[in-house]
Amino acid sequence: MEPIPKTFKAGYAAIIGRPNAGKSTLMNALLDIKLSIISAKPQTTRRRILGILNREDMQVIFIDTPGLLKPRYVLQQKMMEQVERALLDADVLLLITDVSVKHHPEEIDLRTINRRGVPVLLLLNKIDLLPKADLLNLIEQYRKFYPFKTIIPVSALKADGLDILNRELARYLPLSPPYYPQDVITDQPERFFIAEIIREKIFRRFYQEIPYSTEVVVEDFKERAHSKDYIYAIIMVERKTQKGIIIGKGGEALKKIGAEARKDIRELLGRDVFLELRVKVNEDWRRKDFKLKKLGY
Ligand code: GDP
Ligand code: MG
Repeated sequence: MEPIPKTFKAGYAAIIGRPNAGKSTLMNALLDIKLSIISAKPQTTRRRILGILNREDMQVIFIDTPGLLKPRYVLQQKMMEQVERALLDADVLLLITDVSVKHHPEEIDLRTINRRGVPVLLLLNKIDLLPKADLLNLIEQYRKFYPFKTIIPVSALKADGLDILNRELARYLPLSPPYYPQDVITDQPERFFIAEIIREKIFRRFYQEIPYSTEVVVEDFKERAHSKDYIYAIIMVERKTQKGIIIGKGGEALKKIGAEARKDIRELLGRDVFLELRVKVNEDWRRKDFKLKKLGY
């Protein structure tokens, strides 16, 4: 392996912002791989996910976080603790906002969030949805609001503006040898991503409370010599009625979730799998501290 040059930079970049701003889309685009699940619904991301970008001159460890919000139940409180932890680790903050919705910069209390005073780069996301003329105005507004190191218009979806972002990141990351081996792209195990894929399919298929009431746990994952890998996953819901909805008439909905998930899992692992899904009721798991602990929150 090549020796690490003295000029090498490495550090943690926390991606923060309101639900649906495009944090997960941005991280996936930066890494050119899908690590974080995405849906049009807010609060799809529940845990902090590391995505590691390895270049010859730097290693950026991106931390995708759940969106900033005021917690209404225990799970959301745990989600905000994940954000807090990400902030403690960060060398740089990437604050991402959605320019296609109207809101005021003050809604995010940066001075409280960024007590340690690390450099903040503001990303104006979804510029594909905004006329250019409006953009200049917005930049002016944000400039007055906080001493951002820089303001970068991007489109996470179209991978627009990411070169500039990487260049700016290289400026603000500290000199350091890499934290992770340079062929590693995340700190989460395969099981986690499998559960996330299944969760994404549920987020995309159902509305209202169902996706939020669902958690997925991969109970078993066996490699088998003479047949496909075996994966057994439990879809956990809060009530019996929800169980019926997820299974669907004659098991139709669950079958579709399984088929869609299997396709993505095959892509992730590079091989076909046998996926067994069961739906179980775990009453009020989102609101019970001990249940959340058991689920790893
Ligand atoms: P998060 O909650 O901040 O992680 O947001 P997601 O990454 O899950 O994205 C929320 C929604 O915004 C999804 O439907 C994305 O496809 C969409 N989105 C993200 N970035 C862009 C963008 O640059 N342009 C457009 N048009 N949509 C985007
Ligand atoms: Mg997300």
